[in-house]
Amino acid sequence: MSFNATVGSPHQLTASQLYAGSNVDYAQINWFEKQWMAWYLWIGNPVIATGLAALLLHETVYFGRCIPWIIIDAIPFFRKWKLQPGKLPTPQEQWECTKGVLFSHFTVEAPAIFLFHPIAESCGMKTWQVPFPAWQTMLPQLAFFFFFEDMFHYFSHQLLHTPLLYKHIHKLHHKYSAPFGLAAEYAHPLEVMILGTGTILGPLLYCKLTQNVHILTVYIWITLRLFQAIDAHSGYDFPWSLQHIVPFWSGAEHHDFHHMAFVNNYSTSFRWWDRVLGTDSKYRAYRERIRAATKGLDEAHRKAVEEKLVAEEEEAGFAAEKEVERQAEGKKNQ
Ligand SMILES: [Zn+2]
Ligand SMILES: [Zn+2]
Repeated sequence: MSFNATVGSPHQLTASQLYAGSNVDYAQINWFEKQWMAWYLWIGNPVIATGLAALLLHETVYFGRCIPWIIIDAIPFFRKWKLQPGKLPTPQEQWECTKGVLFSHFTVEAPAIFLFHPIAESCGMKTWQVPFPAWQTMLPQLAFFFFFEDMFHYFSHQLLHTPLLYKHIHKLHHKYSAPFGLAAEYAHPLEVMILGTGTILGPLLYCKLTQNVHILTVYIWITLRLFQAIDAHSGYDFPWSLQHIVPFWSGAEHHDFHHMAFVNNYSTSFRWWDRVLGTDSKYRAYRERIRAATKGLDEAHRKAVEEKLVAEEEEAGFAAEKEVERQAEGKKNQ
């Protein structure tokens, strides 16, 4: 595909000029690719078309994925798989959280999303172009994006737990010691920017190096990443949850502990960084305590024992949080 160099810079062209200057074989493209073209042609300006599509995707996937968890929270049948038994969000809490999430979506994420098209194009990413890449091209890219984001998140999340950054930025995300789906992106705008960098930097770097990334692959990645984040905050561990099938997948069971105990488990998708660098020792000791204390117990007794252990761990978490905030005060007064 090539641009018609005589018409001007690709950033100033309308979608119809871009398609006219490219060598798309219209007989060869599929229905989905035709819709993609139609969207860009309908909006006209490619920067707005990409920004709007990304914004709609983000809002639809985020709230669409949260709805099943809101329903699950309302159905008593599912309570036996709740990681912190008895800790259900009230409708009031869910509404407050939704307002906070919408605020950061439209103050930080929306402007960033509209900047994404020019940045992506400057790295050589395909946006309006059709046809789409083959799934064999997409799969290794998605694997790299997952790996990169998890690593980036692991180290920057630990940084956010240092006294001053915690007090001024990350504390907001820790408002809920028993998280729920909607709380996934409940965070300070600066945290959204810092941790969001891990999500988009992987695709940009990969694109810069290979010149072979289509924004559709990035949309698939963002969708999977949103599912990962929301599910990790859901508060439920089902027998069919992914971590029981893929043992190095983190899942809710891993991240729920981070919110409850305030320490350990800093990564997002995978368990390996916490395991290798030893930031999961308290978590593993806790799982072992639960396993030993509930062995052979019936449902009612198991729940009672779990609730007691959760309360102890949460208490220790509150103390750890207080200590970090005390250190932040000390630093300020120095
Ligand atoms: Zn944290
Ligand atoms: Zn969290």
